[in-house]
Amino acid sequence: MDRFDGRAPDALRPCRVTPDFVPSADGSCLIECGGVRVICTAYVEDAVPPFLNGKNEGWLAARYALLPAAGRRGPRDGRNAENGRFIARALRSAVDARFLGGRTVTVNCDVLESDGDACAPAVTGGFVALCCAVDKMMRRGDLRESPVVHQVAAAAAGLLESAPCLDLTRREEEEADARLACVMNEQGGFSEVRAAGEGRALTTPELNALLALAEKGASSLHQMQLRALGDRADVIAPRRTLVIASNNAHKIREISDMLDDSLRVISMREAGFTGEIDENGETFEENARIKALAVARATGFCALADDSGLTVDALSGAPGVRSARYAGAHGDDAANNALLIQNLRDVPAQERTAQFVCAMALALPGGRVYAVQGACPGVITFAPRGEGGFGYDPYFEYVSGETFAEMGEAEKNRVSHRALAMRAMLPYIETL
Ligand code: IMP
Repeated sequence: MDRFDGRAPDALRPCRVTPDFVPSADGSCLIECGGVRVICTAYVEDAVPPFLNGKNEGWLAARYALLPAAGRRGPRDGRNAENGRFIARALRSAVDARFLGGRTVTVNCDVLESDGDACAPAVTGGFVALCCAVDKMMRRGDLRESPVVHQVAAAAAGLLESAPCLDLTRREEEEADARLACVMNEQGGFSEVRAAGEGRALTTPELNALLALAEKGASSLHQMQLRALGDRADVIAPRRTLVIASNNAHKIREISDMLDDSLRVISMREAGFTGEIDENGETFEENARIKALAVARATGFCALADDSGLTVDALSGAPGVRSARYAGAHGDDAANNALLIQNLRDVPAQERTAQFVCAMALALPGGRVYAVQGACPGVITFAPRGEGGFGYDPYFEYVSGETFAEMGEAEKNRVSHRALAMRAMLPYIETL
């Protein structure tokens, strides 16, 4: 199949991206693919559309417009709106909007010249403009974690005299039997595929051949984007930091042991947080939320906090959220245990049921919070047993018959309220 411009069927036209083409935008580039030229500009606003109010996430919008002289067919408003939606969905598939906070990024793609499909180059260039805007927000300190979780580029292909060809010119498009455009991420996943037969139906092998060509084109465009972005490509799919809202080294190690290396786990101190948090909630969950949100907002990283304690049924849930300071002084285990046993002195064995409860909250810097709870049932003994553990452990008899202070540390870490809460929290952590 001979092409007008002598290109091989699987060759893209020469493609070039010039970042910062519009310095007054938050992020911008000019993308040129043969005779297609598109200016992509990204603007950031501190507001979200009404349907996202209170959801603690951001939004990404896109617009597509042809300058009057860009195409020989004149303005086509319906097509522009459809292309704008295609670009917006493509770029949204690259972003975790929870990390945009209450911001909207609008990517405008203004087509200067369109010798062929300009929508695919608009996605590819729009992604570069988006990354430039995110990089600028991070340098300004408006964002600490990048919302860009995937790299996306779009490529188009078509059938010319039934032969699959990549990146058609306008003249080739007019003669094509079919056209396909796809948006592909760095893992080879497609977030958009748009295909149509022109005058005849497509077969599955033809569709597959077009998709394979477009995939090849999108891979080359990924490389080109990375070259254009240079250091700014660091905003793509970053390794997340999780701050454990505690300075207790034991707790931090226990939690980081349960997570894989895809996260950097650090203490509040390492995150630079030295403030005091007023844990004035009335439930374990409220306190965990208060701590996690305070640390996430102050550090700009995701934060994990827990709040735990003992609830005794015969004492209407006491010590509850006051577990650490039941007898007055914070963390005086001996005094807390003495008061607990004193208050239960007339309560018979079968009514001494209790639970250790742990609430865990994961807060994202944009304000989204996920909360879970783990509860471990047991009874309060009349006398202490065992040397291990801390707090109320010597008086808390687990269903196995051992107190938490008699149980080995490994076994306690397997069955405890904290372990149960952590297990319930893991699926949320995995979304970071
Ligand atoms: P925090 O949530 O780690 O601050 O714990 C609050 C208080 O609950 C502690 O000071 C202990 O008195 C009690 N507590 C929480 N978890 C345990 C446990 O596993 N064993 C014994 N006491 C606990």
